[in-house]
Amino acid sequence: MDSKMILYNSLSRKKEEFKPINPPSVGLYVCGPTVYGDAHLGHARPAITFDLLFRYFKHLNFKVRYVRNITDVGHLENDADSGEDKIGKKARLEQLEPMEVVQFYTDRYHREMDRLNVLKPSIEPRASGHIIEQIEMTKQIFKNGFAYESNGSVYFDVEKYNKKYHYGKLSGRVLEDLYSNTRELEGQSEKKNSFDFALWKKASPEHIMRWPSPWSDGFPGWHMECSAMGHKYLGDEFDIHGGGMDLLFPHHECEIAQNTAAIGENTVKYWVHNNMITINGQKMGKSLGNFITLEDLFNGSNEVLEKDYGPMTIRFFILQAHYRSTLDFSNEALQAAEKGLARLLKGVDTLSKIKPDEFGNVDLTALKQKCYDAMNDDLNSPMVIAHLFDSLKTINSIESGKEKINAKNLNSLKELFNVFLFEILGMRNDEAASGVNDDVLKDVVDMVLNLRMQAKGNKDYATSDFIRNELTKIGITVKDKKDGFDWEI
Ligand code: ZN
Repeated sequence: MDSKMILYNSLSRKKEEFKPINPPSVGLYVCGPTVYGDAHLGHARPAITFDLLFRYFKHLNFKVRYVRNITDVGHLENDADSGEDKIGKKARLEQLEPMEVVQFYTDRYHREMDRLNVLKPSIEPRASGHIIEQIEMTKQIFKNGFAYESNGSVYFDVEKYNKKYHYGKLSGRVLEDLYSNTRELEGQSEKKNSFDFALWKKASPEHIMRWPSPWSDGFPGWHMECSAMGHKYLGDEFDIHGGGMDLLFPHHECEIAQNTAAIGENTVKYWVHNNMITINGQKMGKSLGNFITLEDLFNGSNEVLEKDYGPMTIRFFILQAHYRSTLDFSNEALQAAEKGLARLLKGVDTLSKIKPDEFGNVDLTALKQKCYDAMNDDLNSPMVIAHLFDSLKTINSIESGKEKINAKNLNSLKELFNVFLFEILGMRNDEAASGVNDDVLKDVVDMVLNLRMQAKGNKDYATSDFIRNELTKIGITVKDKKDGFDWEI
């Protein structure tokens, strides 16, 4: 199978052939969530985009080291160098230790990622676990002359850096424009220029999360964590750095500057960014009142939603758009995705029932190559899905007896769905397939267990035990309680 893969590189602004630095190894770093609130639609898109890339690399037998961090310190409000730490603020409001906030939302993030069938990364480092690495890198930038200290904080000297290198090469921003466009913010008087960014910040007396450093008791700047952890786990030069397009500036631009100043040029070969999700054409935001968490989506509890949508519907909806296109959320679009996925899964079901015919002449070999071509063309998942839809016509016409397929071709068609729909696109044949979602399942199990309670009430212990044993066989554990029952899968 021809597997020359093309990826769009945000740095060169071109599609380039993907050639790993040390094949068959691939180093992939993706900026993970700042864990101070529930995961929302905006988290689902990068997670699924890079899950698709991770899965495809694995399918192509690359040995991928996928690092996706957890940001648990240093990310200040407004993504700026002043303001409260997002996690520190939540901890203050809820009267919790910041790491309690981090643990709580990290666990919830993991739960949502599992539901979306997003594979776990190889390493999931936390920023707060890498303070030493961040201090060391800051020291190196200092030593190389691109940082200065001011009142116990350390800032990156953008102007000096730009004389030797190019600040703005990723985002296309020009320093001249930044002089006039950067807003005056509180606390920036300690900077030489408003666009300089913090590598280390001195903590104010009320700031909770703080560590000792050569400059002050304080905390690392937000951009520093990804430079330090990417370097620690993937080395001086690695293949791919990814994230949402909203991170391109300033976060990734600053990361490039830090890496160049501390390690050298070209630390990352390909920069890959997914586009954003809008809601009915608008940007999603808490202040705009159109903020949808993944949990809201899964149980339909948000007034924007007409109904609940299963995790596989959300995943399919995201993969039906190319990762570099904007994707507009609406109830209509999600319901269309739900129906589309159900059609594909019904096709898989039909396929499992088809009997081969030795004189069959249906041949779908070309379809396989078309699916690979689509994946190799900058992860064109909507095109893969379109090819799978195309094959449904043939599947239906074989089922109705109009066409025939031999055993070999039938097997390769089944294999095609296994590989592309389940292994690479990562769909799961659960709720959307049968129309049975979590709520229906819950109602059915509750009903069966109520029948068991009745049987027990009638001293019909044979029936009561039978129901419990049968449920155990299918993986449902029943726990009797004083006033009823509890169960879990
Ligand atoms: Zn990052």
